[in-house]
Amino acid sequence: MTHIAVLGSTNMDLVAYVEKAPRRGETVTGREFRTVPGGKGANQAIAAARAGAMVSMIGAVGDDPFGARLRSTLEHSGVTTDRLRTTEGPSGTAHIVVDDEGGNAIVVVPGANGTVDHLVPGDEGLIATADALLLQLEIPLAAVLAGAETARKHGVRTILTPAPARPLPPGLLTATDLLVPNEHEAAALTGLTDPHRAATALLEQVPEVVVTLGAAGSLHAARGAEPFTVPAPRVAAVDSTGAGDTFVGTLAVALGEGRPTREALAWAATAAALSVQRAGASASMPYRSEIEARYT
Ligand code: ADP
Repeated sequence: MTHIAVLGSTNMDLVAYVEKAPRRGETVTGREFRTVPGGKGANQAIAAARAGAMVSMIGAVGDDPFGARLRSTLEHSGVTTDRLRTTEGPSGTAHIVVDDEGGNAIVVVPGANGTVDHLVPGDEGLIATADALLLQLEIPLAAVLAGAETARKHGVRTILTPAPARPLPPGLLTATDLLVPNEHEAAALTGLTDPHRAATALLEQVPEVVVTLGAAGSLHAARGAEPFTVPAPRVAAVDSTGAGDTFVGTLAVALGEGRPTREALAWAATAAALSVQRAGASASMPYRSEIEARYT
């Protein structure tokens, strides 16, 4: 069985649904409120576990009720949480206002995620035994860099999602084996809006890049190889939240199982297409049997 380690964030998403978002100084009455477990790290961990890997999550939750729920949500999806610390204080939260046009405004308070600024004893041992380490940018960058360098030291494949887009510390890209930005993140990293040109520019620092293109699929580029695109299945999308995290989590599993690159990308696209047809981020992520049933 493929073993995936994830070093990243866990957040409780606090979502208020309103007709129209309030302006500064204004109060509006919302229609509905939901708490939804999330965070890019936790989402990728859940996607990989549902896709059939053994997954361990490294990170932190707070000692509040959100922390307990985040931990149990991960465990219910089969993610091992031995190395998910519980720290004093609040869990990470994302305060989200969704309006009737589907637009949103989000405030993220890192909470416990902010304490994940270094690796602690035991983390290295776990990373060393994994087939791949998944990283994103919702925890302090010092820990992301330490994770990538530790994986590199042990010959473990590092897969980095450069989201949310922010300037990267020197050395992070050179310690990365596979970079998976969406189009906006690829543009933010390179200043180039054309995904082909952005991917080519990124190859100066990373050996392999996959740019996700929403409904248009994904673009693969690697040093010394012809770039190619893999289409996404045509589906009626109802909620694309977490599509990128589903894609990366399942791609890591397929690559860990030794599937050829094109096949792994098509498998991930099948999983992501299933997730966009259902509401919610982690709740919408498909199980392996569903991916296999749809994969052609
Ligand atoms: P992010 O969610 O990070 O913004 P994308 O929007 O590029 O990333 O989506 C990631 C992947 O999810 C795509 O490469 C594609 O496989 C799948 N996907 C996203 N939107 C759709 C859609 N409308 N139809 C089918 N697949 C989709």
